[in-house]
Amino acid sequence: MKKLIMIKYGELSTKKDNIGLFLKKLKDNVVNVIGNKGSVSFDKGRMFIEGDNIDYLVTKIKNVFGIHEYEIVYKIGTSYEELKTSILELLKDLNFISFKVSTKRSDKKYFKNSMDVSKEIGGFILKNISGKVVDVKSPDLIVNIEIRADAIYIYFEKYSGIGGYPVGSLGKGLLMLSGGIDSPVAGYLAMKRGIKIECLYFESPPHTSIEAQNKVLELAKKLALYNGDIKVHVVNFTPIQEAIYKKIPHDYLITIMRRMMYRIAAIIAGKRNCKVLINGESIGQVASQTLTSMSVINSVVNIPVIRPVACFDKLEIIDLAKKIGTYDISILPYEDCCTIFVPDHPVINPIKEKCILYEELIPYKDLIYEAVKSHEIKIIKASESEFSDLL
Ligand code: ATP
Ligand code: MG
Repeated sequence: MKKLIMIKYGELSTKKDNIGLFLKKLKDNVVNVIGNKGSVSFDKGRMFIEGDNIDYLVTKIKNVFGIHEYEIVYKIGTSYEELKTSILELLKDLNFISFKVSTKRSDKKYFKNSMDVSKEIGGFILKNISGKVVDVKSPDLIVNIEIRADAIYIYFEKYSGIGGYPVGSLGKGLLMLSGGIDSPVAGYLAMKRGIKIECLYFESPPHTSIEAQNKVLELAKKLALYNGDIKVHVVNFTPIQEAIYKKIPHDYLITIMRRMMYRIAAIIAGKRNCKVLINGESIGQVASQTLTSMSVINSVVNIPVIRPVACFDKLEIIDLAKKIGTYDISILPYEDCCTIFVPDHPVINPIKEKCILYEELIPYKDLIYEAVKSHEIKIIKASESEFSDLL
């Protein structure tokens, strides 16, 4: 009897024409996390992972998007006799009184149908192991039997995967990653929809510290668990920010600053073949996230902007941040470039024409050119995001 992992990819199986592409990504992503510790194969609607240490492999696939459900299965041949002896062998180590047998037959040519197999194997268990009863409503144990063309699989529990689409199956996006709570969560949700991310961080030295940058890199490390290696583009925003601060009426500081961030993000996204920008804006959270502000800011770019947490309450965002382990990093106190030049009364309903006039007061095209030209790229390795090899 061989022990392996059987994966069900749920929503993916509805992707008729593109299924091959999705499965290839899923396989690549699984191979990426398990390395040479296991091997992957497919059989009609299922993916299998084999390896010496199944428990270790399970810990590795927990963060792979595209896996909706998985089971730890025992693989045997298709003979009915072998099925019976294997079931007795497996049940002798399990602690239960009531049970039911549930059979699925993907090989319709098998000589017995599912109902008959369930009934007969149930009777066989009652006859051979004393003290057991059948309970179809809420049994202690479900004996699942899946009959496929070249093998039968037996398992007792179903586990939920994290769902979603395989990262990269929908292309790439550029996440505007600040040190806050919202943007890492936005990145997580985008990855869950199959978008592979690169990150963009605006820093303002000396107004922002190296600790602030390290915090963002730590956040990226958490995201790398799902994404694989992550490129973080670090842009020096100081000259732009200082020019804005000097020349532009202060109620428009944030609006103009964010229009500059969007412009830079769109340029880097274009260079990196990222099809969308992703950010952590949440409707109504701050002055720059009113619908008018968002529209005036968004109007400087053509690239689509995805805001995965736009309609979340802050508490919902915090819950998710805790779940993915970014919250404790996000609440570290280092200043972000947005928070240092915050005016007392930022405009809530900015006027686009005013923005255009104000922007003429600074050589913003040159400043943007310089910022993009001199930006740094840091690579965060997924393998450093946990002590993977010690497990
Ligand atoms: P977060 O939204 O991540 O909690 P925040 O609330 O401090 O951080 P906001 O001022 O709400 O940030 O900015 C909205 C979004 O703009 C952020 O979620 C992020 O996507 C982007 N952003 C803000 N500051 C930066 C920055 N310094 N670098 C990159 N992106 C940023
Ligand atoms: Mg925010």
